[in-house]
Amino acid sequence: MGSGVRLLVLGKQGAGKGTQAVRIARHYGVPHISTGDMFRAAAAARTPFGLKAQEFMKRGELVPDDVVIGVVAERLAKDDAVDDGFVLDGFPRTRVQAEELQRLLGPGGLDAAVDIDVPTEVVLERISGRRVCRTCGATYHVSHPPKVDWLCDKDGGDVIQREDDKPEAIERRLELYERDTRPLLDYYEELGVLVTVDGDGDPDDVFDRILEAVETAREPRSPAPPAPR
Ligand SMILES: [Zn+2]
Repeated sequence: MGSGVRLLVLGKQGAGKGTQAVRIARHYGVPHISTGDMFRAAAAARTPFGLKAQEFMKRGELVPDDVVIGVVAERLAKDDAVDDGFVLDGFPRTRVQAEELQRLLGPGGLDAAVDIDVPTEVVLERISGRRVCRTCGATYHVSHPPKVDWLCDKDGGDVIQREDDKPEAIERRLELYERDTRPLLDYYEELGVLVTVDGDGDPDDVFDRILEAVETAREPRSPAPPAPR
C-alpha cells in the first residue's frame, strides 16, 4: 500500500457529503470513488461484477451485498487506489458491507471514517428550500431564486419543488438514513476510526474542519506510557 490516505465519508442527504468528498480527494490526490460512478464504470467496462450489478439495476432491483462488494473490490484493486488510496462516497451502506470492506483492506484498514454531522433542521431547510428547473434540472434555492419569476435563468423553464424535496419525503429518508447508518457509525467507533465533523455552516469552514480531523486521525498513535513500577 502507498502512503496516501484511505477514507470514507458519511452524512445525511443535504449534509454536503458529495461535494466535500470530491474536495478531500482532490486535496490528497486520491480517487474519489462514489457508488454511482463506480457502478456505471464497472458496467461500461463489462467487469464480471459490473455485469452482474447491471442485471439487477435493469430489473429495478436492489443490488445484493455480495455484488456490491465485488464491484468495490474490483475498483479498489486498481493501481490508483492501491498506490495512493481513496475517498469512498456512498459505500458502505450496511454493517455487513463495512465488515467486508475492512476484510478487503486488510490490517491497514481505513485512516478515518468521516461523519459529516448536520442537524436535521438544517438539512430540512436546505433540501425543502431547493427548487429545480423542469427542463434542464438546474437547482436553485428559495434563498437564491432565479432572476425572473421562478423561470430558469438558462432556458426559461418552470422552476418547481420536486415531490422528493417536500418535508414529509425528506423526513422519511432521514429516518431511513438514521436506521441504516447508526450501526455503521457504531462499527467505526468500535474500530477507533470514526471522526465526527460539524457540517453546519460555510462549506469552506466545514472542509477545513474535515482536514484537521483527518490529519489528527492519521497521526501515529503514541505508545501507551510505561506502567509505573
Ligand atoms: Zn433550466
